[in-house]
Amino acid sequence: MTFIKFKFSMLLLLQLTVSNLAFSQQNITKLSTKDCKKLQQNKVITKSNPIACSRLSLVTFSHRNDHGTIHDDGQLVVLDVIAAQVVKLTAALTQQGFMIEKAQPMERYLGDDKRSMTDNNTSAFNGRAITNGKRWSLHAYGVAVDINPVQNPFIDIGKDGTAVVSPTQSARYAMNRLNERVGKQPRQDMAEDVVDLFAQHGFFIWGGDWNYPIDYQHFQVGPRRFVERLISLPQQQARVLFEQKITLYRRCQKENKTIKKLKRRAHCANTVIQHMKKPHV
Ligand SMILES: [Zn+2]
Repeated sequence: MTFIKFKFSMLLLLQLTVSNLAFSQQNITKLSTKDCKKLQQNKVITKSNPIACSRLSLVTFSHRNDHGTIHDDGQLVVLDVIAAQVVKLTAALTQQGFMIEKAQPMERYLGDDKRSMTDNNTSAFNGRAITNGKRWSLHAYGVAVDINPVQNPFIDIGKDGTAVVSPTQSARYAMNRLNERVGKQPRQDMAEDVVDLFAQHGFFIWGGDWNYPIDYQHFQVGPRRFVERLISLPQQQARVLFEQKITLYRRCQKENKTIKKLKRRAHCANTVIQHMKKPHV
């Protein structure tokens, strides 16, 4: 009897694994030469980009819009070695009831981040420099995601105390980050609700943790040093390294159940980030 049960559960596990794998693979497409040309023509990638276009994969997914309806037209372009986790992340977001208004290709905005933000577009790869800077953004490596920019704005803060909010329509809508307010409906697409979910899938750095700029929409897998190591390794090795960091985070979460949720997320994400900063880990 026990043996039959064991066989049955093994079979179920195998089926689940196979269907998960099929599910992941169905949602991931390696960018073709034609796709890359299109990106180039639409100013989403240039010849000087820090990673080659051939290292990018398109993840397609279903998402809930703000009426709760599920749409299956979500698209995110990411680094090949993180694509499988992005598939799982988007499924987990939908399952949690999190809403993504739209995730359209960056070609539609000609790689213009301001236009994409104003349209409340969720995006990942964009071969651009950091906002108001010269260094490559981690979006140019395909390892950062910007989620619902209108609900989760980018706030640049000058030394004189002036704050510039992007997109502008967020300034009078999303600067107040409280979500249980007297006389106001809770907002269901704020990054705060999914910070742990992102970390569970390998996005350990959140721009909402920064003093300035504060980048509520921005999630990235790790510090630049780690990302550079990730792209320098053969794909299989890079995948293993990335998965190891996820295991480390999840283990930390399990081992610190007594710590309050928010504190635990900060502690565990920091543990992984410090680990990533060590040479050759
Ligand atoms: Zn970003």
